[in-house]
Amino acid sequence: MKMLHAYSIDLQKNITATQAHDFYSKLIKSSQNFQCSDEDCRAPVICVNFGKKPGEYKMPVHFRISPKHTENCSIQKDIDEQAKRLSTN
Ligand SMILES: [Zn+2]
Repeated sequence: MKMLHAYSIDLQKNITATQAHDFYSKLIKSSQNFQCSDEDCRAPVICVNFGKKPGEYKMPVHFRISPKHTENCSIQKDIDEQAKRLSTN
């Protein structure tokens, strides 16, 4: 399951995976410098394929969610909804 936005620890704001890729090596140094964009959650998030060039990966750059969201995390709820919709199709 993919997340569209994540909180960048380096930039201190929510950004998309594409934006993260653009900031690579300038402002963001690590694929692990991201957290869940829910303020009360902040579960660790990994930016997959971060820093790779087109052609070096099969999937575009995206955020991979942590399984460790808080109970009331709004992002986790969205992801659960997505999963439900996919499983009923
Ligand atoms: Zn979360």
